[in-house]
Amino acid sequence: MSKLKVATVWLDGCSGCHMSFLDMDERLLELAELIDVVYSPLVDAKQFPNEVDIALVEGAVASVDDEKKIKLIRAHSKMLVAMGDCAVTGNVPSMRNSLGPESILNRAYMENASAQQQIPSVVVPRLLRVVRPIHEYVNVDVFLPGCPPSADTFHTALTALVTGEPLDIPALTRFGA
Ligand code: SF4
Repeated sequence: MSKLKVATVWLDGCSGCHMSFLDMDERLLELAELIDVVYSPLVDAKQFPNEVDIALVEGAVASVDDEKKIKLIRAHSKMLVAMGDCAVTGNVPSMRNSLGPESILNRAYMENASAQQQIPSVVVPRLLRVVRPIHEYVNVDVFLPGCPPSADTFHTALTALVTGEPLDIPALTRFGA
C-alpha cells in the first residue's frame, strides 16, 4: 500500500497543536509506516504540494495571508482537518474581534514599544477585521477539538483516517459520516 501524503499547516495559532501532535512520541514511528509528511512546519518544504491526502490545519484565519493559504490548501487536499479549537471555533485569536485590528496594532507596536514606534506596512500580513474559524472560508471534513487536542486524540483520529476506519470518539465530527 502506498503511503498517504499528509500536510500540517500553521495559521493563527500558538503552535501548541503541533507540539501535541509531536507528543505522540514513538507512535509517530508507527504512523510513519503509513504516511509521508510532505508539508509542515516540522519539515523543510516551502511550497504546498499539488495533491495532499490529509491536511491538518492549526489556527484560525486572521490575516489576508491566512485566507489565501486556507483556500489554496483546500484546493489541493482531499481531506481537510480543523486541528484544535482555534481552527474549529476561532478560540484565542478571535478574542480580538470586539476590538478591531487597529487597536491591537496600536497596542503592540505603539503603546508597548519603547523605541521605534511604527505599525509595520511590509512583511507582516494585513490583519482581517475579524478572526474566523476555517470552516467559514472552506469546507472542513473533520473537526478535531481541544486546546490542544491530546496526543491520544491525534493518534486515534489519524489512525482512523489513514486506515479508513470510522472515527468513533465522540468529540470528532465528520461531515457526511
Ligand atoms: Fe494553541 Fe490551543 Fe489554538 Fe492549538 S487550539 S493553536 S494549543 S491556542
